[in-house]
Amino acid sequence: MPAAFIGHGSPMNAIESNRYTEAWRAFGRAVPKPRAVLVVSAHWYINATAVTAMPRPRTIHDFYGFPQQLFDVDYPAPGLPELAAEISDAVQPTWVGADVDAWGIDHGTWSVLVHAFPAADVPVVQLSINADKSFDYHLELGAKLAPLRESGVLVLGSGNVVHNLGGMSRQLADEGYDWAQRFDEDAKTTMLEDPTNAASLDGHPDFRNAAPTPDHFLPLLYLAGLAGAGDGKTDVLIDGYAFGSLSMTAYTLDLSCPEAGTAGSGGAGELPIDAPPDGSNM
Ligand code: ZN
Repeated sequence: MPAAFIGHGSPMNAIESNRYTEAWRAFGRAVPKPRAVLVVSAHWYINATAVTAMPRPRTIHDFYGFPQQLFDVDYPAPGLPELAAEISDAVQPTWVGADVDAWGIDHGTWSVLVHAFPAADVPVVQLSINADKSFDYHLELGAKLAPLRESGVLVLGSGNVVHNLGGMSRQLADEGYDWAQRFDEDAKTTMLEDPTNAASLDGHPDFRNAAPTPDHFLPLLYLAGLAGAGDGKTDVLIDGYAFGSLSMTAYTLDLSCPEAGTAGSGGAGELPIDAPPDGSNM
């Protein structure tokens, strides 16, 4: 089973059609139907390593200032409770908790999956990002997930390589600041040529601007870990910038999807209508 990292951007992407969402759709059509999707979402960033283990995960609307239409989105994919035990076995001796009632499917996950798997017929499990752990921990945990690929589990990181909400500008809808481009391009070189080195990108001179908080960057390390665990090839699914300080770059592992780069048109999803972007939790 391939694996991927998706730059999810604004939650408005869930209800818009643009060149990113069409790339995510092309990705969903290109992968073999998974037994489950295991998503490492930037928006489940807690002080523990846990997986969702409920049969019917709820759709979580964890953002502010967006139109009602977005709060009305429901993504009714089932869970797959037995996957929690498989993940726990795969990553030993790392301890993974099973969450049966706290989380569900957050917008980092469903804003992508409504496009990649619009029928919501593939079970969805989320793996939290443990905020207490080092970058190396996340890279190594990603590598330990590799055996799951052999049993039909699609591992998907969802974040943004560059994600600085305080720096966003509505005037730069389809552009990136110089520092955003420098960081994204260097991250790209690392992902394509030496993914196991991705955990050292926190030493990049533009890292503090690109990732003032690490939550949206860290999902990338799971794909980097998976890439390092095998001899597979990482490719860019789609790339670009939004609002100056977001990179929308997405990567695949062991999947060539050339139509993704040519499908759709238009920039990434809009910003909140009645709230500042840095208060939106996007
Ligand atoms: Zn986000």
